Amino acid sequence: MPFSIIAGHERIIGILRRTLAAKRTAHAYLFDGPEGCGKRTTALALVEAVFCNGTDGCGNCPSCRKVAALQHPDLHLLEPDGAFIKIDQVRALQRELSLRPFEAPCKVCIIDDADRFHPAAGNALLKTLEEPPGNALLILLSANPDGVLQTIRSRCQAVHFTALAEETVATTLVARGIETETARLAASLAAGSLGKALELCSVETLGGRSEQIEQLFSLSLQEIGQLFAFSERLSADKEEVQTLLDLLTAFLRDVLIVQAGSDHVVNLDLLELTRREAARQPATRVMASIGHIAAARQALQRNVNTRLALDTLLMRLVA
Ligand SMILES: [Zn+2]
Repeated sequence: MPFSIIAGHERIIGILRRTLAAKRTAHAYLFDGPEGCGKRTTALALVEAVFCNGTDGCGNCPSCRKVAALQHPDLHLLEPDGAFIKIDQVRALQRELSLRPFEAPCKVCIIDDADRFHPAAGNALLKTLEEPPGNALLILLSANPDGVLQTIRSRCQAVHFTALAEETVATTLVARGIETETARLAASLAAGSLGKALELCSVETLGGRSEQIEQLFSLSLQEIGQLFAFSERLSADKEEVQTLLDLLTAFLRDVLIVQAGSDHVVNLDLLELTRREAARQPATRVMASIGHIAAARQALQRNVNTRLALDTLLMRLVA
């Protein structure tokens, strides 16, 4: 995807274009910013531009297409193998970068989750960041720049991305053929992440969520079998559980808004259900539920058994 069709980030793209035109591209960049805001897409656009004609990618030539499909022989991708980026991976990358490029003017490596270098692997990369062989370009990505080793950070040119405006996300979704109402809703739930918004639209979560939330609030400890069945069904897909947790949090926030006497809710189509829960649950309980959801999310990030985390959460929510 060339620079010209990236959503938002005009300032960053302007800077990258100018440095390309002046042939003053850095050896190593660190793109940091929230998950799903467009760091990787912008990195690929930069690669298209460098490989295609030096200022902007056309998006159509064989080179641009191979970059977009992640099939270009001179584009290397590195991401953690398990919890860390390991030293063997760095050595393998260095061997690749030391070879002559096959068809592009230089070799490029995009390193995802650059906050997850094993310290030894990070140290091994320092020399490459300072003097990449054959003018190679390294683009590091991270949603957690404080976690990037200081020695790595100091050798990269930092580019700070911010979350996209809700309006930008919604417009982009519509431009990609998503119905306006769905786009607006997904954008409002996605907290500035186009990636997350697309996920919300693609899994058809939005349509089914009213039913899911209805079901959830009809569960009770008296009929624990139903609760476990609900949990079992959902926990088959960890991604879906994460999405449900996001939706639930947004819904409960709406319940608090209604309780405070306003109708400015995110989930406008769930207003009736929101009002019902607002009348049924005291605010202290709603806030406690939001806390339980945050705890479940943390547990899942620590790789706790999904089913167990969900069972626990549901029992807390309906108790
Ligand atoms: Zn091209």
